[in-house]
Amino acid sequence: MVYKRSSELFVEANKVIPGGVNSPVRAFKSVGGTPIFVKSAKGPYLFDEDGNKLIDYINSWGPMILGHAHEPVINAITERAKLGTSFGMPTELETKIAELAVSMVPNIDKIRFVNSGTEACMSAIRLARGYTKRDKIIKFAGCYHGHSDSFLIQAGSGAITFGSPNSPGVTEGTAKDTLLANYNDIENVKALFEANKNEIAAIIIEPVAGNMGCIPPKAGFLNALRELCDADGTMLIFDEVMTGFRLAKGGAQELYNVKADIVCFGKVIGGGLPVGAFAAKKEIMDYLAPIGPVYQAGTLSGNPLAMAAGYEMLKELNSDKDIYKRLEEKTAYLYEGIHKVLSDKEIDFTINRVGSMISVHFDKNEVYDFETAKKGDNDSFKKFFHGLVKEGVYIAPSAYETWFITDALSYEDLDFTINAINKVVSNL
Ligand code: PMP
Repeated sequence: MVYKRSSELFVEANKVIPGGVNSPVRAFKSVGGTPIFVKSAKGPYLFDEDGNKLIDYINSWGPMILGHAHEPVINAITERAKLGTSFGMPTELETKIAELAVSMVPNIDKIRFVNSGTEACMSAIRLARGYTKRDKIIKFAGCYHGHSDSFLIQAGSGAITFGSPNSPGVTEGTAKDTLLANYNDIENVKALFEANKNEIAAIIIEPVAGNMGCIPPKAGFLNALRELCDADGTMLIFDEVMTGFRLAKGGAQELYNVKADIVCFGKVIGGGLPVGAFAAKKEIMDYLAPIGPVYQAGTLSGNPLAMAAGYEMLKELNSDKDIYKRLEEKTAYLYEGIHKVLSDKEIDFTINRVGSMISVHFDKNEVYDFETAKKGDNDSFKKFFHGLVKEGVYIAPSAYETWFITDALSYEDLDFTINAINKVVSNL
């Protein structure tokens, strides 16, 4: 494959955009080489500026669960745009998507829309702190909750790749209120509670971690967090920016049958437009301005184009009875295929999967937290990544990312991918 045009565009971009990108992981820093500039996408495929076609396993990092340029979503956006693109005033559509989201997700009565997952998590933490009148939060090493200051303490995703998990610019005052725990380590969390009795406002967690590769919660782990929170008057916040409307209609709360106090959304809920949201029971959400004391706002929040895209996406996920079953089956098929290829080649690997989230780690030991995720062989990953691109398969350009399976993938696409992996790993 030729990347002449992408290389030229990257040079131009670098002159006016820091690192040539508007979000760091896009720059290929951890795998090397030139980022691929996208021209268009349809269904499961990306088409780049050099005319190459790639099967897409990032899917905009999660949102495109029904495939790119999905017609009902595109039509909804187009029709809505003709009526005006932003008012800063309420629209009926906001209530409709809110009603639908509340009906799909367990344990929430009200939802507030924002413009990104970062905003959702940042606002959820403020609400939890305001509601409990406590300052401290617990987050897990390797989990990513966006780039607001409280979370840039051993964050996952791009922040790991860049080797600077504690970003300059985050003050020590902010950092001291964020307590760090190890994912899947309940004893560790208990010790933090003992040392900080009645001081912890919230635990925030990715109920299935997706920012250090895909890491499932161990059996009983989420329940045990729920119990610790109940015992100490602490709020449990599920960051379902990746898992929401993806692992099940009701996300990880439904899949694991554990209730969170506040749930954060992003990605799928916006149908590919910039949307985030956070939701909870009425008494908690009514603690927000304008009726409650905790301030939170947004000029473009509830933007009509974004709401139209999200509403169409949620409607389809809500009405398609088999969607989550199909996603599960397709991802299981991919898992089996990759597992066989890597086993046959006697490569050291672990594949983690929950529903339509899957990640391949080049290490034979179980990957269950940030430390074990870091043990993966990055040189093998780099070769794997570039080899796959050459074969026409695009996975995330970092070993710490999850692949997101879209319903638009056919079994032919999956076979093509498994064959491509077979070719690539023969040369590892
Ligand atoms: N939480 C999680 C679990 C995420 O994966 C992400 C983004 N990958 C965020 C929050 C932040 O979302 P955004 O990039 O939309 O700000």
